Amino acid sequence: MADKTIYLDNASTTRVRKEVLDEMLPYFMEYYGNSASIHALGKAPREAVKEAREKIAKVIKANPDEIYFTSGGSESDTWVLKSAVMGPHKKGSHVIVSAIEHHAILNTCDLLVKSGYKVTYVPVDKYGIVDMDAIEKAITPETALISVMTANNEIGTIEPIKEIGALAHKHNVLFHTDAVQAYGQVDIDVTRDNVDFLSASAHKLGGPKGVGFLYIRKGVRIDPLICGGEQERGIRGGTTNTPGVVGFGKAAELAMENMEARAKKERELRDHLIDRVLKEIPYSYLNGHPTQRLPGNANISFHFIEGESLLMSLNMKGICISTGSACASGSLDPSHVLLAIGLEHQHAHGSLRFTVSDENTMEDVDYAVDVLKESVERLRSMSPLYDDFIKNKKA
Ligand SMILES: *Cc1c(COP(=O)(O)O)cnc(C)c1O
Repeated sequence: MADKTIYLDNASTTRVRKEVLDEMLPYFMEYYGNSASIHALGKAPREAVKEAREKIAKVIKANPDEIYFTSGGSESDTWVLKSAVMGPHKKGSHVIVSAIEHHAILNTCDLLVKSGYKVTYVPVDKYGIVDMDAIEKAITPETALISVMTANNEIGTIEPIKEIGALAHKHNVLFHTDAVQAYGQVDIDVTRDNVDFLSASAHKLGGPKGVGFLYIRKGVRIDPLICGGEQERGIRGGTTNTPGVVGFGKAAELAMENMEARAKKERELRDHLIDRVLKEIPYSYLNGHPTQRLPGNANISFHFIEGESLLMSLNMKGICISTGSACASGSLDPSHVLLAIGLEHQHAHGSLRFTVSDENTMEDVDYAVDVLKESVERLRSMSPLYDDFIKNKKA
């Protein structure tokens, strides 16, 4: 391990904020009761969960009773997709998703296809913005749900969810958005944005891992994915994760309070990183939309570089980043998101994702860019491809 750690992988997960942990701690040993219990020990957890639900709903201007706690974004995504075609509001056997969804969505789609349901994957442009015409063309009388993420976890592109929601409703189709990356980061109003279902997760915004929610618009019915007791109005069984929910509530409250200041700081850090990299490292290219992107995200391709090698080289110097997404790393397949925006395989393989938080500093970014420059130079100096390229260029 290097003697310092610079964490630039906040899209994978974030550090729990101190205020969040402090708020959670009493619910482990002091107020440890089951929030559903009628006796005295049930009261404090029940009230804390109620309060957290209100804070969490407020971020997306929902009613607290439209928030259903889950174990995280993956569960929320799986739940809504499965129930869309199998549940009580079942309209048909077809769903439409974008080609750049998170694997929680895409792998659920694979299961649906195996079970005989139909899925259409709509393409995106070179910036990762979903093709609205392709969505409209894909809609059939059998279409039960359209699911397009609010912001992409790899390239940070923010999708026009309000317009997609309006299009879905025009055709009497329900609209889901995976807002795991966007919740508390960009302004969302479920009514204005025509959203029927929305997934979010606490650990992407300074909350604990293992807790999230599915927003379900009032009046839309859905079957449970996890069966059990009467928790979450009878459609999501399992004893309520009180400390987790309390932590999520605090993280949501903090995110709301300083959304603009945080976004401004992240944008400054990120833009500094992008400016320096593109200026100082030849043959490096920014992926994703130049402006319609999450404030903390920079995804950059380095030609003549193997992403994993570069990642390992930065890791030796204490810099934590990611190639594409956590789910894609560890596998040799290039990122489906980078391929969908039109990158060639070799360039998709040579891409890294840097995601800053407001806990980072300019010094962190400068140090990372310095190490990056040096590492890219060293790796290229060992690359026969790069050598040939330079020779041909000179010739
Ligand atoms: C992290 C992430 C998820 C998964 O959330 P978990 O709470 O880790 O299950 C889903 N979608 C997106 C866009 C994500 O970034």
